[in-house]
Amino acid sequence: MTQRPRLQSFAAHLRYHKGNLERTISVLITWKHRQHLMHTSKQMGQGRIKDQKARDLAFAKSKHCIFCGGSVVATTVDHYPPRAVFHDNRWPEGYVFPACASCNSGSREADNWAGFLSMMDPNINQPESQFEKNLKRLKSLDQTSPGLIRESFGSTAIEKKSMARRLRMNRELGQTYADLPLVKIPVAAQKWMDVFAPKLTKALHFEHTNRIPPSNAGLQYWWFTNANQLEGNVPQIINNDFGYPSVKRANVDLSGQFNYRYQVSNNGEMGLFVIGFRFAFMIISAITFDPAVTERVIRQARAAVEAYKAYDSAPGRV
Ligand SMILES: [Zn+2]
Repeated sequence: MTQRPRLQSFAAHLRYHKGNLERTISVLITWKHRQHLMHTSKQMGQGRIKDQKARDLAFAKSKHCIFCGGSVVATTVDHYPPRAVFHDNRWPEGYVFPACASCNSGSREADNWAGFLSMMDPNINQPESQFEKNLKRLKSLDQTSPGLIRESFGSTAIEKKSMARRLRMNRELGQTYADLPLVKIPVAAQKWMDVFAPKLTKALHFEHTNRIPPSNAGLQYWWFTNANQLEGNVPQIINNDFGYPSVKRANVDLSGQFNYRYQVSNNGEMGLFVIGFRFAFMIISAITFDPAVTERVIRQARAAVEAYKAYDSAPGRV
């Protein structure tokens, strides 16, 4: 019988080794985020005022939830990407969206997963507080998807050896194959990505067009881990036509944690997004409002992306 790895052991694992994910999108951005932000109580105060302003601004843009088609009245505001992916309770200004209660709370598990996954960047040293939060997220996900921790961290030395070969990873002196910092993507990740990626796509689309995707919009996404990047399996589709918005809070650049490039059509009914979370994972997504053009656009995007090994969603999923 396989023993369930103790939290303590993979905690040490995460802490003392650099973590690469097995098969993931990697980030197009190589900017390495090492700076951990200091915040004073004064700045926190300003932050709260800013958050209230962000709420007002979100409701001013739409009275309706932007995530479920635009006919349900928004009763909450939703931070997207979720706060879980950012360090030190500092999330970017402006990314606050009107949402109904059901859309807001419906991504809780998916947000936890994305928060955990986004920290799997081998180039950063997590602050202690962040590390503890990450463990909590994992434990809570493991409760709703029992076996998750074992599945993610319980790869055998033989499995790791084969992954390491694929990724051309070398062991350090004294390191065994079992010690290699490889985390396996659990099966449940797909269902969480099926919530997270579409929600994020709709949020970013709204951010740049002020248009709410209808409930029959076509949406397709692909995601990749940093291991996919190391294997050269990430499509390079960005060109100069893509916008590159700044992502910041109080003039502090947060693009090392989350950044994206985008293209939207003039009528605001099509969008293409390339979204990176640290050097951990990446999403490419396409959305179209008009079912008549959905097939064509999705087909083009698919041709560009599917030559690569990616995790993909079902076609046309919203
Ligand atoms: Zn909704």
